[in-house]
Amino acid sequence: MKAIVVREYGEPEVMRLEEVEIPEPVGKQVLVKLNAIGVNPVDTYLRTGLYAYVPQLPYTPGKDAAGVIEKCGPEVTKFEPGERVYTAGSISGTYAEYTLCDESQIGRLPDNISFEEGACIWTPYATSYRALFQKARCIEGETVLIHGASGGVGSAAIQWAKWFGLRVFATAGSQEGLEHVLKLGADKAFNHSDEDHFSDIREASEQGVDVIIEMLANVNLERDFEAIARFGRIVIVGSRGSLMFTPRQLMTKDITVFGMSLFNALANDLAEIHREIYEGLADGRLKPVVGKKFSLAEAPAAHHAIIEQKALGKIILIP
Ligand code: NAP
Repeated sequence: MKAIVVREYGEPEVMRLEEVEIPEPVGKQVLVKLNAIGVNPVDTYLRTGLYAYVPQLPYTPGKDAAGVIEKCGPEVTKFEPGERVYTAGSISGTYAEYTLCDESQIGRLPDNISFEEGACIWTPYATSYRALFQKARCIEGETVLIHGASGGVGSAAIQWAKWFGLRVFATAGSQEGLEHVLKLGADKAFNHSDEDHFSDIREASEQGVDVIIEMLANVNLERDFEAIARFGRIVIVGSRGSLMFTPRQLMTKDITVFGMSLFNALANDLAEIHREIYEGLADGRLKPVVGKKFSLAEAPAAHHAIIEQKALGKIILIP
């Protein structure tokens, strides 16, 4: 089969298309033939070899994808060959024509969801669900600011938040992004490139927002304290650097800041997320937003795009 292989850490161009053996499932493993593959920012961090988790070389990147089960190991009990699934992690990597997963790393794809949409599910919907409901514990009627809502996680967060009855403020950094978040159901949109957007958000929410889902904490965290209400909760989902801030600002409003990594979610939390995703997709409340598409061989261009260009939904690869 064709697969992207990384043999040295570095720039996107270290990802090369190679011919490799199709893996054989053993025990509780399943082999999935992939129709579409999701690209996440974390795939780019891992490729540099400088992230908190360093993959062992050589490796095939990726954990989000969708396809059909080709073959099951002898101990698999929950799935059968021929079932349409999305992946939520992978043993062999998803930037390939086939991927090997543990049966705990896949979820059923409802019939109304295409494979391309299926490739946009796991990291965006699981991360945003965990941030909104397992960390901030949002309450119906509250106002949430999704700070960076035009990309994969933010687009998913808008859908969860609207379904749950939250008032949604969303930001983007381009005109297309602002239109995109409004189309997804955000009640108000703000441009995060605009220095004044923190005070505009404060004004629009009157008392400040109750919850902030933060995609770029190193840039925004200190100013978030202006936009948030007393007893507000901030969940740090994304950060790409460091910052200095004044802790007293947390004291004066009794603000709680949560860090979160989807990698830390425990089995119970993951099971709840899979269940909610399936129900939300099946009844149409959740509708993944497919953004730019690249071929598998164009994986380096996809990595450049996700870091360097304005976001609009989720970038995918077609094997
Ligand atoms: P993405 O699709 O590339 O989207 C990035 C988002 O960040 C876009 O909405 C972008 O908006 C926005 N952004 C850019 N500049 C910003 C600013 N100054 N203030 C606020 N937002 C800004 O990435 P993603 O998949 O949505 O992931 C978002 C972040 O969360 C990434 O840093 C990713 O690594 C992280 N993440 C963390 C976890 C976790 O478990 N903690 C899981 C998944 C993702 P424009 O392009 O419109 O400017």
